[in-house]
Amino acid sequence: MSPIKHVAIYGKGGIGKSCTASNIAAACAEDGHRVLVVGCDPKSDSTITLVGRRIPTMMDLIQRGGEIAESDVVFKGYKGVRCIEVGGPEPGVGCAGRGIIVAIQFLRKVSTAMDDVDLVLYDVPGDIVCGGFSAPIRKGLVSQAYIITSGEYMPLYAANNICRGLRRLGTPLAGVICNSREAQGEREIVESFARELDNRMVAFIPKDPLVQECERRGVTVIEGKPDSEIAGIYRKLAEAFMGEMVPRIPQPISDERLRELSRA
Ligand code: ADP
Ligand code: MG
Repeated sequence: MSPIKHVAIYGKGGIGKSCTASNIAAACAEDGHRVLVVGCDPKSDSTITLVGRRIPTMMDLIQRGGEIAESDVVFKGYKGVRCIEVGGPEPGVGCAGRGIIVAIQFLRKVSTAMDDVDLVLYDVPGDIVCGGFSAPIRKGLVSQAYIITSGEYMPLYAANNICRGLRRLGTPLAGVICNSREAQGEREIVESFARELDNRMVAFIPKDPLVQECERRGVTVIEGKPDSEIAGIYRKLAEAFMGEMVPRIPQPISDERLRELSRA
């Protein structure tokens, strides 16, 4: 049996982490892989399209106290994908990183979900100054990362900063995913960016209204529009996630070079 993959998805807020993570999870599950999605973002919306509704967060349950069973925190979504939401601290109080650690320790006490799957996908806040960024890596939970960006300056800037963080923590980057915002020359920009990081662009996901149409219905496109082109793109990306990766510590580029690239 191959070892469990522990993969984090990073990127600027709003760039499409949760959406991409849930579509990958759905595609992997359709392929017969057992998947756990760990929503670590305080927005706690990572798993809605898998379960079809918002699920209770571990932080809320833990703070409320009392007995907590596996069925209170681990929810089965599309094709059996297991889903948890860590939940977040109140804005201005506490640390998202601390929350993730407490939640995972707690999960391990009540459930074997972390150890009884083929893929654990962490949907992590991409804000590098937040403990939520490094906590899953520091605790040895995450062994590789993917970064999502578009060809626009701000998400690229965040992606480059994430690479600085990954490098400092010694965590390999498995690939850069371009989630298109239809910026001019976007594919070339993101390809060059990935190459200069000593990495590669593993997918170019077009901007597609089907994504939000399905999201409004509470499903992934894998479930809601299985024959669409975009579902095919997510399926291919899911195969890459389950395949062999070449571990490569990213080499961040200078801010000046980043500005040049995004003007291309
Ligand atoms: P994040 O988790 O990074 O904050 P989300 O996954 O919530 O971002 O995505 C933000 C919004 O962008 C969502 O409404 C989502 O449906 C939309 N979105 C993401 N990817 C695409 C895409 N390829 N085409 C169209 N809309 C997209
Ligand atoms: Mg999200």
